[in-house]
Amino acid sequence: MSEHSPFPANYLNQAGLNRQHVFTLSELPAEVVATLGDIDGYRQLILIGHAGRLLWECVKASGIEGEHPIDDYSMRTVARWFTEFLPGRRYTLLYPGEAAVGLQQLGKLAGWHHPSPFMIGIDATWGSWFAYRAVVLADTDFLPSPPAERLNPCQTCQEKPCITACPAGALADGSFSLSRCASYRLQPDSVCAYGCLARSACPIGSAYRYDEAQIRHSYSRSLAMLRQYF
Ligand code: SF4
Ligand code: SF4
Repeated sequence: MSEHSPFPANYLNQAGLNRQHVFTLSELPAEVVATLGDIDGYRQLILIGHAGRLLWECVKASGIEGEHPIDDYSMRTVARWFTEFLPGRRYTLLYPGEAAVGLQQLGKLAGWHHPSPFMIGIDATWGSWFAYRAVVLADTDFLPSPPAERLNPCQTCQEKPCITACPAGALADGSFSLSRCASYRLQPDSVCAYGCLARSACPIGSAYRYDEAQIRHSYSRSLAMLRQYF
């Protein structure tokens, strides 16, 4: 008989939170643990993400509106998941929240994140059409997840259409220029205000490309941040 509880993934998968990775806290690097706050009494860290279009469809179907509908939906879904499938298990939701959790660092450890020229994580299956949605400390005893073994598609991409698609040349010098990207996005009527042409030009995972409304939603948030900082 297994010493681990089965991971109840179905509910999350059907809710659009279709990527999950279980870390054992004692096996995480110390610098990662240091970002998690008080871990006393917890054994595991669960990273939950979404990939593809289903999450946005679920968010719309939920009727949740407001400034952060995806975060609000994700928090609500994780809370229901614990209530219905993990009764009695203690948990703390670290993200979305105030904790300075290194999402990309966790993504690298999970094998989800590979760097792309436009500074968004990419993998060979989903392309760049995935994101981190929740990070949870839990007193669970699931089987820890093995890292996803997917290579970085950028390493074998000869044409690199993302680089030439950027009208600002922000990817042209071998590293990403945030200042060029931000300046271009902040221009009046910029074609990059609510989407990234470089990201859309990447052929990897194009079948999972987000709905236009989701792209517009997420880039309107980053545009608002750019307006604050530049
Ligand atoms: S177009 Fe090629 S180099 Fe650019 S992100 Fe996609 S796979 Fe990577
Ligand atoms: S948002 Fe526009 S300017 Fe910025 S990297 Fe993407 S294509 Fe280039």
